[in-house]
Order: sequence, then C-alpha cells, then structure tokens
Amino acid sequence: MSPTPERITAVDTHDIRFPTSRELDGSDAMNPDPDYSAAYVVLRTDAADGLEGHGFTFTIGRGNDVQVAAIHALRHHVTGRTVEEVCADPGSLFRDLIGDSQLRWLGPEKGVMHMAIGAVVNAVWDMAAKRAGKPLWRLLAEADPAWLVGQIDFRYIDDALTPEEALHILRRGRQGAPERTARLLERGYPAYTTSAGWLGYDDEKLTRLAAQAVAEGFTQIKLKVGADLEDDIRRCRVARAVIGPGIRMAVDANQRWGVAEAIRWTRALAPFDPYWIEEPTSPDDVLAHAAIREAVAPVKVATGEHVQNRIVFKQMLQAGALDVLQIDAARVGGVNENLAILLLAAKFGVPVCPHAGGVGLCELVQHLSMFDYVAVSGTTEDRVIEYVDHLHDHFLDPVVIRDGHYTAPTTPGFSAAMRPESIDRYTFPGGGFWAADPDRQQLQKGQAA
Ligand SMILES: [Mg+2]
Repeated sequence: MSPTPERITAVDTHDIRFPTSRELDGSDAMNPDPDYSAAYVVLRTDAADGLEGHGFTFTIGRGNDVQVAAIHALRHHVTGRTVEEVCADPGSLFRDLIGDSQLRWLGPEKGVMHMAIGAVVNAVWDMAAKRAGKPLWRLLAEADPAWLVGQIDFRYIDDALTPEEALHILRRGRQGAPERTARLLERGYPAYTTSAGWLGYDDEKLTRLAAQAVAEGFTQIKLKVGADLEDDIRRCRVARAVIGPGIRMAVDANQRWGVAEAIRWTRALAPFDPYWIEEPTSPDDVLAHAAIREAVAPVKVATGEHVQNRIVFKQMLQAGALDVLQIDAARVGGVNENLAILLLAAKFGVPVCPHAGGVGLCELVQHLSMFDYVAVSGTTEDRVIEYVDHLHDHFLDPVVIRDGHYTAPTTPGFSAAMRPESIDRYTFPGGGFWAADPDRQQLQKGQAA
C-alpha cells in the first residue's frame, strides 16, 4: 500500500505594515508617504518535514487588506494539492490560478488578483526550493531547460518568443554555467543603491548618503525626480558633484509625466549625465515610452516595476520602448511569469535591472537575477539589482551586500520568510506596534470596509 500523499493543508494570510512614512523613507514624486507593507502568505502542509512555503506581495499601506483578501480568494486552488506534485510542477498551479474563469474577470492577468497569484506561486517555489535543499536561483539554474520551458505560459507571447526559441536560449545558457556559479558565489551580483535619493531627503542627507554609497563600493546610485524641476536640477548637481563622473546616476520619475513633459524634464537634467530615466510615464503606455526613448537618447529609458504582465513587456520590447527592463518579483504572476519575461529580454538583447526595495523585494528578486546570470544571459555587464537598506532585519535570510554586490544566498528557499516576531508586531491593526500606536484609528479610516 502506498503511503498517503502529503498535502497542502492551509493558506495563512497576514496583513503586515511598517510605519515607514514617518521617516520619509521611500518617498517619491507619486508616493510621498508610503507605509511599506506585505500581504503575506504561508502555505502549510501535513508533511513530516514541516517545511512551509512563504510568499508575499508588496504594497505601500492602504489597500494591503484588499491584497490579503485577494490571496484568500485563491485558497481553494491550493489546499488539498499534493506537495510533491505542486513542487514538481508549479506551472500547473500557476495556469489554474490565472485560468480561474470567475476571478479572471478581475484582471485578466493584472492588478490585485494577479499580484495575489504571484504571492501564492512564489510561496510554492519557496517550498519547492526548500525541499530540493537549494536556494531558488540554484534550483532554476540547474533545472532541465525543457522543464523550465514547460513552466512558462506562452499564450499571448509566442509571436515574440516561441517555446523552441526559449529552449535554445536556456540550452545555450548551460554552457559555462558552472564557472559562472563559482564566480557568483565568490563575487556576488552587482547592486545599485536608491537609499541616497529619496525625494523627502534634504541636500545635507543626500550629500552624506551619496558619498557613503560610493565609499561602500556602489558604482551606481539613483535619485527620485519629478516633483519640482528646479529642485531636481539642484539635487542632480549636488549628487553628481559628490559622486564624480565615474559613477552612474539614474533618475526615477515614478510615472509622473506625460510624453512632452518627460522629454522636456529629462533633457533639462541631461547636463548631469543621468544613466537612465525610470518610469517617465504610465507603465501601460508602450508607445509613449518608445517616443520618449527616441527623444531623450543617449539617456536610457527604464521601466517595469508597475508593468503588469509578460504581455505588456513583450510589447515594450517589440516597440523598442526600453533600454533597461526592470522585473519585479512580486508584481506579476510569480516566478513562472518572470521566467517568461527574462527569456523575452534575452531574446531582444535588453539588460534586466530589477526593481527592489520595499519589503523583501531585494530578498526575492536577487534569485531571479542570479539565475539570469548563471543560466540565461550569462553576463552581469550593464546589469545591476536595485538595493535599498530598509527592513531587511525582519527577514530570516536577509540579503547581504558586500562591496556593492549582493552575496549569493546559500540557504534553501526563496529568502521570503519573515521573522515570526516581526509578523506579530507589525500585523495591522492588532499587532503590538499598531495596537499601541496613537495614529492607528486615523489610519484605519482608510481601511476597506
Ligand atoms: Mg522606481
């Protein structure tokens, strides 16, 4: 008699919020007062190993309860599944989740529901990597190329990338992979820092943090722009004077502009040699990005943290709208969809420089870039992962930055698990921090009913 298969028994959700708005950490032209938050999910099983799958979606405060509710709405697809089957083929769950015919109406494949799917899918990959005894980047890099291709949903993208082309890219990526793994473990993956450039910081803080970034070995920093042009000219001048000509300086407008204003503003900052202009306009507007790119060259155009799925990325690449593609580990439908996006970028020869920061986004996305280096693009040239030095101490396996590089994780899993005491303390509104907070009732007025 075969033993009873181990199954997923519970999908636990948590509304976790950090009061970051009080320090203006994370402030930019569109998001002046974010409270960095996670709609957090834990998959529990009846397996004897006790391994859980952890995942989350990042939000910036109000609406995190809506995001939690969206994850909760997916639980019937997950509970009762066999652990072994779902870990052997996360793609089957991914397809079932994006294919739920009633929930699909809330997208399709975009917004709150799609982000919820990403959180659940990422939690499955966390569990799969733990069971395999490998960090996720390594599980992906050592996986059979044909199996990886089977993890991708090619619907809506095979006009730009066929399964055969994806297989070819992945097979090519295996050449030299052991040497790149060794190099990655030794040197890490290049990072850039946004910590100096939040819009709410004054010039003194900008100066101090920009100098510190260079001293710590970063070769690129990023400044938030887009609220006031005179301020931006002054801040770019200050930053460039501090870092000198040899360090790259990106600027990020967080979707602030229309096409004409984006072009005018970027050209006004051009004397300070910005490396890229990030999110100059709406993340949905493919042709606007193409027009801006043509007009502001040689300043590069970057976007992706709010690009909702592989289909919009496909169009951005087809239209020549991007110089730099910024994946986000928790915006699209999880690892499976990001595999598709990494392969699309490789096909079009566009470097991937992920969005990170927030809560835990650095912890997650480092795995995808490291996989890309070892087994897809095969290079770190002109590639950097964003780094922001907030909130890492709430994670059990936090990122480690050394000499401007992400150190390759070696602990099995997706580095997604938060410390239990942090979950307890920052659960909204009943956790220890919020229960004692005098401003809590005011914040709760913004809660969804
Ligand atoms: Mg950004």
